[in-house]
Amino acid sequence: MKAKFDLRGMTCAACAANITRAVNALKGINSVEVRIIQSDMTVDFDENRLNEDEIITAVTRAGYGASLQDTVKARRRREQREALKKEMAQLRARTVISFALMIPLMYISMGPMADMPLPWWLDQTVQPTVNWIVQAVLSLAVCIVNGKFFVHGYGSLFRLMPNMDSLVALGCTASFGYSLYAALNGHVMHLYFDSAATILTLVTLGKFFEARTKRSTQGSVTDLLDLSPKTVTVMRNGGEVTVEAEELAVGDIISVRSGESLAADGVVVDGSGEVDVSAMTGESQPLFRAEGDEVFTASKVTSGAFRYRAEKVGEDTFLAKTAAMVEQAGASKPPIARLADKISGIFVPCVLLIALITAILWLIFGKNGENAVIHAVTVLVVSCPCALGLATPISVMVATGRAAKEGILFKSAEALENACKCDVVVFDKTGTLTTGEMTVDSVFTVSGSEDELVSVCASLEQASTHPIAAAILNYYKSSPAKSEDNVYIPGQGAAGFIDGDYCIAGNARMMKENGVEMAEFDLPSGVTPVYVARDDNMLGCICLRDRLRPTTKGAVADLQKMGVRVMMLTGDNESSAAVAAGELGIDYAASLLPDGKTGKIQELSAAGSRVMMVGDGINDAPALASADVGVAVGAGTDIAIDSAEAVLTGSDPSGVAALIDISKRTVKNIRMNLFWALFYNALCIPVAAGVLHFAGIDMSPALAAAAMSLSSVCVCTNALRLRK
Ligand code: ADP
Ligand code: MG
Repeated sequence: MKAKFDLRGMTCAACAANITRAVNALKGINSVEVRIIQSDMTVDFDENRLNEDEIITAVTRAGYGASLQDTVKARRRREQREALKKEMAQLRARTVISFALMIPLMYISMGPMADMPLPWWLDQTVQPTVNWIVQAVLSLAVCIVNGKFFVHGYGSLFRLMPNMDSLVALGCTASFGYSLYAALNGHVMHLYFDSAATILTLVTLGKFFEARTKRSTQGSVTDLLDLSPKTVTVMRNGGEVTVEAEELAVGDIISVRSGESLAADGVVVDGSGEVDVSAMTGESQPLFRAEGDEVFTASKVTSGAFRYRAEKVGEDTFLAKTAAMVEQAGASKPPIARLADKISGIFVPCVLLIALITAILWLIFGKNGENAVIHAVTVLVVSCPCALGLATPISVMVATGRAAKEGILFKSAEALENACKCDVVVFDKTGTLTTGEMTVDSVFTVSGSEDELVSVCASLEQASTHPIAAAILNYYKSSPAKSEDNVYIPGQGAAGFIDGDYCIAGNARMMKENGVEMAEFDLPSGVTPVYVARDDNMLGCICLRDRLRPTTKGAVADLQKMGVRVMMLTGDNESSAAVAAGELGIDYAASLLPDGKTGKIQELSAAGSRVMMVGDGINDAPALASADVGVAVGAGTDIAIDSAEAVLTGSDPSGVAALIDISKRTVKNIRMNLFWALFYNALCIPVAAGVLHFAGIDMSPALAAAAMSLSSVCVCTNALRLRK
């Protein structure tokens, strides 16, 4: 079984690795996934060999806190937000107090070097003892304010699972301890009490920035949920009452008027109005909704008033599912993160080792205790791996949240990373490039009346959700008779028994496969014919016409401008495909069966292309799954959405260019972050160790702390740029 836990006390990627290791050591664990930013853990375990309490104990023993997650999501989110708020307030207070103590300390220790005045009783040359004692007290005060670093740092060090707090704690202890030792032995000129204080202050400042970034990334997910109202007006016992949104049940009739937002997915039962769905789909045009129309949670009524019946509430609404998807994607790891993960796991022990070697080499070759301690401290402090742990997850969180606001949902970070590598985008035609709202162009009869032709066809089409079916049912107007054993054959059409006769409605392939002899039709160009046969006799055909979406041309041009090859794959006939593709100036393949689309995609892949497939229908699911990145467009079926890696909630194909663009920007952003976190650290370590000492270049522990905090701040600030 799977259980989710909230974690406490995690500070960096090394902590996550420690917890994972501790839990994995238990017998009966199948998998453990710890997420740093959300501070939670999902454990898949064998409930016959293990229970939740044992897992919590293992985490506690490793020096962290864990509790089973509350099943009520809303409450959990609120608690999470409150915890983060509290953490922020604490961090802010600690930062302010630390600075207040650190500034006088710096003045006392550095002032004389810059010829700044000190009262006589503090003057180092007159009162050396008072001077160093004041420094030590101020420094100790900063250590106490930031005592958490020592508790966590030494705690995990003694359990042989050092993390970044261990580095900070060791660094501060070494510089404080060394200074105390030197002062007590009368060497009052080279003290480093101020280093301990600066390290702690700057690292805390860095943590404060980090917490602020975390809060703003969580915002984008909760923003989505905040779009739905807290209270709603529902019909109960013949009257209108106001209830909490959580109390809504399926079947409730809810009334809304202009200015209000919807609290459930449902169908309008009376009244009408315009709704603004831009927050969900990015589509800016308000939609007119009247009786029988579908409406979705969180869309805002901009004019009019209506009542709708709730069909999906709570966690089942499209909005809640979207938020869950965004949250999941934001927390998943792109392949690019693997390297960072591997490195974080061994980083801290390596740094400890390097610091130790630095100290030893300085003692042997430098013959200088002070230099040995200070360079070791500088190494410890400069190489804290917190930026490394943040580099990818922060960017992924920001990017997925940002994309969701534009109606682009990534299901995983992998899709987010891969989208920009695609050099071919393959579109499905009907419903994707075209509106999918087909209209009947003309009807040809061969035998029997036009009425019979249309009514047989409408009966059969009840089995299908294809745009063709919708168009024909719409054309027939009254409700068609039921047919027996009514089935939909994707890529072909529909079939069933009417009054004992086997009837089929579909394309030429379907007629051929059923052995129906084709009649000669003089079809207009660019239409999609639906042939109808009864008992192997051709009744005639209904020709449908579809239009390109108004945004399609621009969308295709945008992609081509990006250097992406655009293609169209369709199950529709040659003539209608040629007209659409000609208008867009793209390559196409027509009359494909669902597996024909898959075949074409595999062909492209085999030729070395990275393929993105954009589609909507049931028959697109295999193609979506076989492409490198499958993108389902919003109006599509659940099956298509399930087999895709990304979803465009609006049905506008121009979302594809935006999707590739955000993917590009994110990958670039992650690379930059990794560069900051990795190379910058790697470059700083030798300098910190004193390799350039002989050239007169040295890094002080305080500068190292500043550099380290700067790298986390850079990483966070850089990731936040993706919000634009
Ligand atoms: P596209 O790739 O354009 O979305 P599909 O693969 O969904 O097309 O369908 C391919 C062809 O199969 C359609 O052009 C149509 O000729 C036929 N077809 C599909 N569904 C139906 C249906 N419900 N009724 C009649 N014909 C259908
Ligand atoms: Mg389709």
